[in-house]
Amino acid sequence: MTLINFFDGTRDPKYGRALLRSFQEIEKYQHLTVSAIPGQTDIPGYNLVKGLESRAYNPQRNQVHRRSLLQELLFNSGQNLEGQKSFILTEADLYDDNLKWCFGAANPDNKGGSHIILSTRRFNGPRTLAHVAIHEFGHMFGAASQGRRNTEMNLGSHCTNLCVMQQKLIVSEMEAQARRLLNRENKFCYECQTELRY
Ligand SMILES: [Zn+2]
Ligand SMILES: [Zn+2]
Repeated sequence: MTLINFFDGTRDPKYGRALLRSFQEIEKYQHLTVSAIPGQTDIPGYNLVKGLESRAYNPQRNQVHRRSLLQELLFNSGQNLEGQKSFILTEADLYDDNLKWCFGAANPDNKGGSHIILSTRRFNGPRTLAHVAIHEFGHMFGAASQGRRNTEMNLGSHCTNLCVMQQKLIVSEMEAQARRLLNRENKFCYECQTELRY
């Protein structure tokens, strides 16, 4: 059983509810348990995310620096999450080193943990958010591995099959890809599915 420490920093529960679909997709391959149910009120989680956002906020850009947010989570939140898996959902607009903005990302830590930070800000609706959450979960659990066939290096290792692990850096392309996969039973291609299993 893998614990996901989930912290929802959004006011509108529709985003958390959309994430439930992402968790269900990953549960085909991994046994998950979550610290807080997405889409349900979690005041401590909300307050934790707001605190992290304020400490990683850049007033010149009116954006939150993603890597700083991750550092705050790991080392200043009092949560002792190094070596664990966590998922932060934020309403803040994120940027990163060399990126004007980003949806979010999944990052490993130095103790074998992995952490997803995902922003709702650039999406027109929860469906694409759910799509990107599945993508980040894919990274968390090892898809698409570097050097595997049908992959490319593009801000990390990504799949080139018709698959949720394709890299799409433009919102409209991401939305088109989410639509393409909408009625597919599995969002991951066969090769990525193999990597997600134990
Ligand atoms: Zn990716
Ligand atoms: Zn794939």
